[in-house]
Amino acid sequence: MQRFYLPNGASSLPEVSHGDGIYLWDTNGARYMDASSGPVVNNIGHANKRVISAMTRQAGRVAYASRAHFENAPNRELAEKVTALAGDGFDQAYVVSGGSEAIEAAIKLAKQYVEAIGQSERSIVLARNPSYHGATLGAAAVTGDAMSRKLFADLMNPQPLVPTPFTYRVPDNFSSESHARHCAQALADEIERVGADKVLAFLMEPVGGLATGALVAPDIYYTEVRKICDRYGILLIFDEVMSGAGRTGAFLAAHHWPDCRPDIVVLAKGVAAGYTPLGIVLAPDQIVEPVANGGGFSHGHTYAANPLSCAVASEVISVLEEDELIANADVVGEFLKAGLWGVAEECPIIGDVRGKGLLMAVELVRDRETKSIFPADANVIGRTVAVGMEEGLALYARRTSGGVFGEWLMISPPLITSKSQAEELCDRLSRTLKRVSEEMVP
Ligand code: PLP
Repeated sequence: MQRFYLPNGASSLPEVSHGDGIYLWDTNGARYMDASSGPVVNNIGHANKRVISAMTRQAGRVAYASRAHFENAPNRELAEKVTALAGDGFDQAYVVSGGSEAIEAAIKLAKQYVEAIGQSERSIVLARNPSYHGATLGAAAVTGDAMSRKLFADLMNPQPLVPTPFTYRVPDNFSSESHARHCAQALADEIERVGADKVLAFLMEPVGGLATGALVAPDIYYTEVRKICDRYGILLIFDEVMSGAGRTGAFLAAHHWPDCRPDIVVLAKGVAAGYTPLGIVLAPDQIVEPVANGGGFSHGHTYAANPLSCAVASEVISVLEEDELIANADVVGEFLKAGLWGVAEECPIIGDVRGKGLLMAVELVRDRETKSIFPADANVIGRTVAVGMEEGLALYARRTSGGVFGEWLMISPPLITSKSQAEELCDRLSRTLKRVSEEMVP
């Protein structure tokens, strides 16, 4: 037993045997629906034959060749596909091995860009509380998580945070919209406080992941954020590690808010759909050219742009397009959301259902009226995950640090999910939550 990996106080986990479509099997033959796509990764489901043959084909040709010596076609093809789908002038794609790496590469790109245009005093990256941008120390420094900030504070340079515009729990005397305006104003205030000419970028997830339970802010927030970044000459970086690659029913979540075009976008997870570790930084020529002309992008990882991972991700993108999975995420996402509200009618433990496309979350509460949460020692999240496994449902879930912002389950099955599978997910979730509710009765 590798004790590093045990989540939510579990004492053991089943061993995975294989996967097919939206299901996984353990070595005892039990089947689980991959209801959250792992940690929102498996966008095209398991054992996709096209991706497996692209992987073996490329491995047989060349798995690795250094970018110091060679261009490679899979990298070029992946960049062409991703920049075409991103549109909006995102001309350049820089490929790394995961989300945290890509976040750090995006920040370094932003920094080298401002250096190149003579604004070298800009170096503060503002981010939101709560948020998650990765586990490496640089990414943790821009993550809004009280626990990791406390634990690793001496090892990193924690950046200032501004409030995340939650819509379910809003402070007294606020509507979700006025709270969103208030949070946007808090960004402007923080920029003024630290000094506008010192701020490099504002980093946010356009549709939230595990840190906020698939939070979608009111439209006005996006409009205001873009205006504020423009007013102060600050780069807007969208972390689309979870929300990108079609997950929300658009290739980029940014596409849902055309008046809030980010300057840099970070992708990972779904873009290679778990078939290989991969992350991408998307940026316009306007940002990359001054850096390239000023001596080149001073950053690199051994596995950046490696042919094998690029060939795999390139095939994932082809599957996404040819099987029309982005449209499916939109249609089945709406259907599933309605189904989840149906589950909420039977299970008062559900306080909120939110999200976009197939990036959704169900927030759990002890009392729907007061929105109070279960005490930590009830371990409602740990129990829901464990009971879910017994009911054939693999769920990704979280209690925020100290329960301050609430606790929720990610409902984000692969983008290949059909309506009947969405119904099956709701049935299994309903059974799971009824059992957990019974356990929670004092
Ligand atoms: N950003 C977001 C929004 C994430 O959800 C994650 C991972 O969960 C990351 C960044 C970090 O990605 P990785 O775990 O691939 O390093």
